[in-house]
Amino acid sequence: MLFFGKKSYDYEQLSKKFSSLLTKNISPDELYLGLLKCLTEAMHTESGTFVLREKDVYAVRQSLDGRSFSFRAEDCVNIIHWLKKNRGTLTRQQLLEESHFTPIRTAGLNFFTQFHAEACLPLFAGDDLLGFVMLGARKKSEAYSASSRTVLDWMGTQFSLGLQNALLKEQIRAQNLELGSVKNLKSQIVANLSHELRTPLTGVIGFSELLAEEIDGQLNDEQKRHVGQVLGNANRLMKILAALVDMAKLEAGNLSMHVQQFSLAPLVASLGDEIPLGGETAFKILLDTTTPRIYGDLTLVRQVFKHLLDNAAKYTPRGEVEVTAVKKGEMLEVCIADTGIGIAEEKLSQIFDGFYQVDGGLTREFQGAGIGLVLSKKLVELHGGRLWVKSAPGKGSRFYFTLPLKPIVIKYRELAA
Ligand code: ADP
Repeated sequence: MLFFGKKSYDYEQLSKKFSSLLTKNISPDELYLGLLKCLTEAMHTESGTFVLREKDVYAVRQSLDGRSFSFRAEDCVNIIHWLKKNRGTLTRQQLLEESHFTPIRTAGLNFFTQFHAEACLPLFAGDDLLGFVMLGARKKSEAYSASSRTVLDWMGTQFSLGLQNALLKEQIRAQNLELGSVKNLKSQIVANLSHELRTPLTGVIGFSELLAEEIDGQLNDEQKRHVGQVLGNANRLMKILAALVDMAKLEAGNLSMHVQQFSLAPLVASLGDEIPLGGETAFKILLDTTTPRIYGDLTLVRQVFKHLLDNAAKYTPRGEVEVTAVKKGEMLEVCIADTGIGIAEEKLSQIFDGFYQVDGGLTREFQGAGIGLVLSKKLVELHGGRLWVKSAPGKGSRFYFTLPLKPIVIKYRELAA
């Protein structure tokens, strides 16, 4: 406890007040006001103004007497220089009485008059002068003595800590907002662009199908092969665009979901014809009517199976692709296992990064855009499940994911993070 005049200052009490303010979940302005009130109360003054620097402009951020103005740092350069050099409280009385203040006396007194203030408490972060608190005359004609300046200096350190904390929070919030709008913009661009690309592509596919069906006349073998290639490539492009649109919608929290209970066996069976298995690869679906029904969006769950089965088929030139499922607590654990090329251990974490391919060179053997896995993972997570992989080169891959056996709540917020 520090004593001066007839008053004593209970640091412990003040410290408690400051830390309770600092730990509260309040806005920066509420925090500044709270800290200002603590200070003025302890100093027995009703007048207090908190000035914050933004670049080279100092502006009133909170004031107990409704003050609101700003000024450029260069307009009070002498005072700022003194505060920076001495790092302590400066009072009007010091300016008036102490001879070493003569060079800055006039400027200093004008500065104090602007605020109707008697004391100026600088707030620092390292060597950076973040701002200051201007305090008015104390009640009962008490002066700002040397000992009260010591108390103020201590309070200044506490206030500075609170200020740095609040500024950091403000900065993080602003960055999050910026990041959010960049993400939304990106999603919007992807969605628009994909839509613009899909329209002409639908025409390419439609007319190629007409040609392939020989409605406009018979084709020779070479023409048929060429049309087949146009169709194959256009369909692949369409799939990539669809995945990009879904990804953009998912990131923007715009993917609509219709949750229902359904059986996986018919869904996987219906995909059989769509999976481009080579002639030497067998497809085994070990799901049946005894497989527990899951809760989810049928279209989205179908997409997960489609992406994983497409991959299993693509990376298994010959061998076996098998789908199994077991109940694990409140989830159904699905496994899509293949006996294909497998994935090296050091690549396992990267394949979920998006736009990543293990064989990513221009001369790569397998085509793809690298979004199937990241999209599948996010779709599974949207259902409250998990997706992971076990694999080794030459030993095939086992992709596991879980889906809920009970009704679910969609968690867009966590996904977008
Ligand atoms: P892509 O369209 O390139 O297949 P994905 O996101 O679906 O994109 O997969 C990312 C990468 O993960 C692939 O490029 C591939 O290297 C690897 N991968 C995915 N599934 C398998 C699998 N079943 N077997 C081997 N590698 C796989």
